Amino acid sequence: MPTYVYETIPGAKKKARRFEVYQSIKDDPLSTDPETGDPVKRVISGGMEIPRGSSSSATDRPAAPSCVHSGGCGCR
Ligand SMILES: [Zn+2]
Repeated sequence: MPTYVYETIPGAKKKARRFEVYQSIKDDPLSTDPETGDPVKRVISGGMEIPRGSSSSATDRPAAPSCVHSGGCGCR
């Protein structure tokens, strides 16, 4: 099931708070937090959670660099 992100609507004394809920696609969006009853709105995240930053560059590079010297030594 997809995870939907909801955000509470901030009030005079409350700050916005985000939480995630597992829901079926067929379910209607929540209008209140089922735990606290606070009014909430669904945050549209585009469905897929995409991690920030590039994960491909980490896998392209070797795990441990062979050079232990400072930059510009030329051994690589
Ligand atoms: Zn070196």
